[in-house]
Amino acid sequence: MAQPCTVAGCAEPRFSREYCRTHAYRAQRYGDPLAASPTTRARLTQERLRQALAGMRRGLSTDAAAAEAGFTGRALRKHLTALGLSAADLKPPKPEPTEPDRRERVRRLARIERERTWAAEREQGTRTYNVHTGEKRRDLHILLTPVAVAEVHAEAERRQCSLSALVNAALAEAGIISDV
Ligand SMILES: [Zn+2]
Repeated sequence: MAQPCTVAGCAEPRFSREYCRTHAYRAQRYGDPLAASPTTRARLTQERLRQALAGMRRGLSTDAAAAEAGFTGRALRKHLTALGLSAADLKPPKPEPTEPDRRERVRRLARIERERTWAAEREQGTRTYNVHTGEKRRDLHILLTPVAVAEVHAEAERRQCSLSALVNAALAEAGIISDV
């Protein structure tokens, strides 16, 4: 039965005088049975670097982010320089200072809610009209000054037609629509 590898915690059978196949390879290649391969080390460095950058984006100082990721501050600054980054590039964005105050937000929300209610009521009215007349019409809502509303009503009365028919006629006259 082969003796186990002499590296603490390694139960693999010995391949060389002291080590298993993996540890013998590392000892020969890097002069240290515990040395990881350059690609493994590079990958670990990349992972720690990502962790450090994430820490800085959360608002940590360079030194604090370095410590968290297991770098010295100096090593992290060297990595940043190599990446063409400065600590300022990684500062978290400041929150928008132009937040509307509470009252203004409440007013805006109330206005949106009112507009929704009106739209729902108009839609209901249009549906009722379509069902009763058997026509397919869609509602177009326009806002007018009180004087203009009075004039439109007066004109509809003169022509003995509905407001819709009046607007349809005006749009047809202007060549905007052909289907009245
Ligand atoms: Zn081993």
